[in-house]
Amino acid sequence: MTKQEVVTFLEKIKANYQSFSQEGYVLNEWYERLKDYDKEDVYKKFEEHLKGDLGSQIPKIHFITKYLIKSSEKGNQNNYKVLCPNCKKVLSLKDYEAHIERHNSIEYMKLHSKMFTILNEEKLLKMPEVLFKEKYDEFIEKLCEVLMSKEEKTQSEKEEFQRLQNYVYSKAGMPISIN
Ligand SMILES: [Zn+2]
Repeated sequence: MTKQEVVTFLEKIKANYQSFSQEGYVLNEWYERLKDYDKEDVYKKFEEHLKGDLGSQIPKIHFITKYLIKSSEKGNQNNYKVLCPNCKKVLSLKDYEAHIERHNSIEYMKLHSKMFTILNEEKLLKMPEVLFKEKYDEFIEKLCEVLMSKEEKTQSEKEEFQRLQNYVYSKAGMPISIN
């Protein structure tokens, strides 16, 4: 935060807590402690304080900065890399979850690999999300049809069919069955 931003912030505190002092030394202290953080984060934390258990008390600087990430460290957080345990690909943290989900979907497709002329795992993994989703949904619908046409279903096939049908229905915005 800039010094001017801290001045404005202290005015906001004053507006909520009349006994809060904005004297020069207070400003300098708060500025020293807040200058490394982003304005948005500080304001958000202050709002939390207002709504929290200690909302009747003037917030301590310590509370405001607790758990906040410094502006200079935010870049590093985005650059944080993780290794996929499945394919050993190096990913940024924000892509990790979607990547693992993709693996899981492909694993499921592999279980029914007889439904594919060719199942190119590598290609499926690299495919853009929209395209993969389309392919995956096609596969689910096909699998759903295969299971439906099967006269004698085992218990697990029945359950699987139910799950698949729910997936198809929920995509179409239709009510799903819980059993
Ligand atoms: Zn992977």
